[in-house]
Amino acid sequence: MSVETQKETLGFQTEVKQLLHLMIHSLYSNKEIFLRELISNASDAVDKLRFEALSKPELLEGGAELKIRVSFDKDAQTVTLEDNGIGMNRDDVITHLGTIAKSGTADFMKNLTGDQKKDSHLIGQFGVGFYSAFIVADKVDVYSRRAGTPASEGVHWSSKGEGDFEVATVDKAERGTRIVLHLKAAENEFADGYRLRNIIKKYSDHIALPIELPKQQNAVEGEPEPAEEWETVNRASALWTRPRTEVKDEEYQEFYKHIAHDFENPLSWSHNKVEGKLEYNSLLYVPARAPFDLYQREAPRGLKLYVQRVFVMDQAESFLPLYLRFIKGVVDSNDLSLNVSREILQKDPIIDSMKSALTKRVLDMLEKLAKNQPEEYKGFWKNFGQVMKEGPAEDFANKEKIAGLLRFASTSDESGEQSVSLADYLGRAKEGQDKIYYLTGESYAQVKNSPHLEVFRKKGIEVLLLTDRIDEWLMSYLSDFDGKGFVDVARGDLDLGKLDSEEDKKAQEEVAKDKEGLIERLKAALGDAVSEVRVSHRLTDSPAILAIGEQDLGLQMRQILEASGQKVPESKPIFEFNPTHPLIGKLDNEQSEDRFSELSHILFDQAALAAGDSLKDPAAYVRRLNKLLVELSV
Ligand code: ADP
Ligand code: MG
Repeated sequence: MSVETQKETLGFQTEVKQLLHLMIHSLYSNKEIFLRELISNASDAVDKLRFEALSKPELLEGGAELKIRVSFDKDAQTVTLEDNGIGMNRDDVITHLGTIAKSGTADFMKNLTGDQKKDSHLIGQFGVGFYSAFIVADKVDVYSRRAGTPASEGVHWSSKGEGDFEVATVDKAERGTRIVLHLKAAENEFADGYRLRNIIKKYSDHIALPIELPKQQNAVEGEPEPAEEWETVNRASALWTRPRTEVKDEEYQEFYKHIAHDFENPLSWSHNKVEGKLEYNSLLYVPARAPFDLYQREAPRGLKLYVQRVFVMDQAESFLPLYLRFIKGVVDSNDLSLNVSREILQKDPIIDSMKSALTKRVLDMLEKLAKNQPEEYKGFWKNFGQVMKEGPAEDFANKEKIAGLLRFASTSDESGEQSVSLADYLGRAKEGQDKIYYLTGESYAQVKNSPHLEVFRKKGIEVLLLTDRIDEWLMSYLSDFDGKGFVDVARGDLDLGKLDSEEDKKAQEEVAKDKEGLIERLKAALGDAVSEVRVSHRLTDSPAILAIGEQDLGLQMRQILEASGQKVPESKPIFEFNPTHPLIGKLDNEQSEDRFSELSHILFDQAALAAGDSLKDPAAYVRRLNKLLVELSV
C-alpha cells in the first residue's frame, strides 16, 4: 500500500448525513441496486473521458480499452469496482462524494414520509446513486486519479457512512476510479461471482462498454494459481442501435433509469431509427413523475447526444422545445461532427429538422398513451399538464396536436379533475352547437358556481372550467379546434348561435326595447364604472353580472401583469342585468334616485365579487349594504 499524505477528515453536508441514515436504515428491500448505481457512475465517467479525449487525446494515456471491472474477495468480504474513466482529483472527490450538489435537496427531505417503500422511490427520483454503496457496505474506500494528472496525484477517500469521511493523497498508477466496498457481515452473499453476474445482467446489460468479471477457474492441485482472466458479462452494445424487436421492455426500463437517474420506470418510450437524408437513432422517454425543478428556468434539460455512438454531451437542449423539457432520452446522429458545440447546435439547420421530427415523435407517443392507457395519461397530465399548456404559444406548427392532448375540468364532471379532452367535449356537443365554451377563473370552487354558467345549465350545454394561472394566456393562443371556435362565456355579447331559437332571439330584442328606460337610468347611476349597460340573456337566477369587453384583458391576465409590476391598460366591464329577477323589478320601480343609485352600486359590486374580482372600495359596499339592511329591519 502506498504512502498516504495530506490526510484530513471532513464532515458530510447535513443533507448527506440524513440521506446516509436513510440509506442504511430503510433501504433494505432492494439492496442489489447499489451495483447498478456504481456501474452507472463508472459508465458516465468513461463517457466523459471519451468526450474530453476528442480534443485532448493525451488523456487516454496510451489508450487501453475502456471498461469496467467488478471483482470480489469472499474471505476479505469485499466487492471492488474499477473503471478507467475520467477519474476524480481531490477537490472532485470532496465535492462529489461529500455533498449533494443538487437544488431541491431540502424539498426532497421534506417529502420523506418514513414509509420505507415510498421513500425508496423518492431517493431514486432524486438520484443519489453513490451513497447507495452504504446499503451493503459498512466502509467504502474510493481510490481515484483524474485523467491527465500525474500518478502522484491520486486520492483516497474513505468513510464508514457516519458523520465524516477521510481524504488523503496517494499514488495511483492507473487513471480512473476504484471503489472497494467492505461488506457488512450480513451482506457477504454479494461477494460471489454468480450473484454479481446476475445483478449485472439484470440491471446493466444495456451499458455500452464491457463490464468484466473474473473468469471462473478451477485451481488444479499442485500447480501454481492460474493467471487472472476476465470475461465480459454484459451485452456491451449501445441499446439504441439495436433493432426494436430485440430489446425487451425491462432493458428499455433499466436504460431509462441509467440515463434519467430515476428509480421508477418510465410511463412510455419511443425508439426510432431514421434513415435517408438525415440519419439518426432516437430513444425518448416520458417519466412517470415530474422532477423538483420542472419550473426552474435554469434547471438542466435536454437529451443525451451521441455522434456515431460516441457520447458528446448531456442536456443537449436544442432537440426539443421547452414545453417538452421533461422528456428524457438519447439521440445519436451520423450527420453531426464529433466536435459539435452547444453554440453550433443552436444554429445548425440539421438540428431544426431533427427537432421538428423528434417533437412529433413525442406528441405521437403522448397521443398513443392517452388512447391506450388512459389511467397512465391521467397521471401524466397531473404531473406535466401545466407544462404542456405552454405548448400552443411556443410551437405554433403543432398547435392542433397539442390541443388534442389538453385536459380540462368541465361542468360535465363533478369531480373537478382535469379529465375532459376537446374531442370528448365535441363528442357531447348539442345539436347545432358550433362553439367550444369555456370560463376562466381563480379556482374550481369559484367558477363552478359562477352566474356566467346559468344559461348553459338551463340549456344543458357543457362549459370547460379553466382555473390554472396559465389558462387565459393559453386560450389567447388557441382560436379553434376541429373547426370549432373557442368562446369565453364571460366575454362580449354572448351569442349562442343556433342554440337560441328564433323565438328566443325575438323575445330578447323585445325585452331590450322594453327596458331602455332602465338601461339609461343605470348608465347614469353607474357612470364611469361601466363601459356599457344591457339586458342579459346569460342569467336565470342572479340579478346581474359583469361581462368583459371582447378585446379587454381578463381577470387572470390582469392579475398576472399587475403582480409583475406592469401597467395594465384600463378596461371597464359591461353591466348586464336579468330583467326577470325580482330585485331588478324593484329597481325599475324605485322612485327615489338616491335609493336607485345605492341599489345599482350594490348590484354592481356583488357581480364583481361573484366574478372573483376584488372591490375598488369595499368599505363603501359594506356601508351601502348595511344601510339597506337597517331600512329593511325597521
Ligand atoms: P449522479 O450520478 O446522479 O451525479 P452520484 O451520487 O451517483 O450522482 O454520483 C455523484 C458524483 O460523483 C458524480 O456526478 C460524479 O461526478 C462523481 N463520481 C461518482 N462515481 C464516479 C466514478 N466512478 N468516476 C468519476 N466520478 C464519479
Ligand atoms: Mg450516479
